[in-house]
Amino acid sequence: MFDLLVKGGTLPDGTQADIGIRGDRIAAVGKLEAEAGRVIDATGDLVSPPFVDPHFHMDATLSYGLPRVNASGTLLEGISLWGELREIATVEEMVDRALRYCDWAVSMGLLAIRSHVDTTPDHLRGVEAMLEVKRRVAPYLDLQLVAFPQDGLYRTKTGRENVVRALDMGVDVVGGIPHFERTMEEGAESLRDLARIAAERGLMWDVHCDETDDPMSRHVETMAREVTRHGLGGRAAGSHLTSMHSMDNYYVSKLLPLIAESGMAAIPNPLINITLQGRHDTYPKRRGLTRVKEMQAMGVPVGWGQDCVLDPWYSLGTADMLDVAFMGLHVAQMTHPAEMARCFTMVTETNARIMGLDHGLQPGRLASLVVLDAGNPVEALRLRPDRLAVVSKGRVVAERQRNDARLALQGRPASVRRRL
Ligand SMILES: [Zn+2]
Repeated sequence: MFDLLVKGGTLPDGTQADIGIRGDRIAAVGKLEAEAGRVIDATGDLVSPPFVDPHFHMDATLSYGLPRVNASGTLLEGISLWGELREIATVEEMVDRALRYCDWAVSMGLLAIRSHVDTTPDHLRGVEAMLEVKRRVAPYLDLQLVAFPQDGLYRTKTGRENVVRALDMGVDVVGGIPHFERTMEEGAESLRDLARIAAERGLMWDVHCDETDDPMSRHVETMAREVTRHGLGGRAAGSHLTSMHSMDNYYVSKLLPLIAESGMAAIPNPLINITLQGRHDTYPKRRGLTRVKEMQAMGVPVGWGQDCVLDPWYSLGTADMLDVAFMGLHVAQMTHPAEMARCFTMVTETNARIMGLDHGLQPGRLASLVVLDAGNPVEALRLRPDRLAVVSKGRVVAERQRNDARLALQGRPASVRRRL
């Protein structure tokens, strides 16, 4: 007897299997005949582990237009707008916006998010708000928080002190932003400093690293060295790494083995970097996405992050990790069937691995999954379809009716679904 049985679905690897759930755990996977308290019919539909977003800014989300829109569309104007907003936003407003966003996320099967939280202002209202959100969504969504010194570890008087204060308050992960420090030297020093903090506290480390078009921004080199020195391996991730797009190929041929040796992961954010990067170029205009396929070929784990939804840096966004993977697939030219399938894996399995989560559709795992109106991962990327059911920790948390279009065409079918 199961509490919940998901019947007849197709798993991402193409096998057909029922999934039996007891309590908050997957009890069995295969051809299952036992009774169940509730059955979800997933015949012909894709049943996937939940979507995971390893790079987000939840303190800023759903604030588009506050205090005004980003007219230049640049990273730097976004940072300056946020600098104004964080001083006027209250804890309650930030909690409300974040909870609303989490509702969107759950409806799209996005059940784990790593969010950077700005630790620059001495009031640390953002940290207070995000810790409250983490506590409130914990029954259905895993929220991991990163202590992120948005204005630099050393550019403000209390930058370093506030990172440590945020970690003491319960923030999970150490952040960083070396390319925004005053000099290259101070950027490198910030990485050595932050790596020590992560190592001493036994924490994960996730750095906004080289989010610039400057090919000489080479902080990822120092980061990889520090990850190796402290043995942070699978606990470390470099986010963005966009300068690698513009770097000299010979230098990159030396850099990639060092990144691979360190065991660190990479988190490009294609929706944001395709719009933010290359803004100082005329033509040709650089894409500003890091070297995804090349890192993967070296064995570096690479996930796709969403970064922003309706905030000072990005005016759109849907909480759908398939939109993120879709953009990444295009910009990185990952069009071979195996590469498209890998893009789906990146926003599920790989992102979960980067965040160190209990994730997957094997017996004994946490019973979290998504039923999609698609036949396989590549079709899911093409359609970015409705999530018909979302199960989090054994509980059905979101459902949607299948929504075929009715046609009124002589001699043609009465409805259409756009699936093959
Ligand atoms: Zn970011």
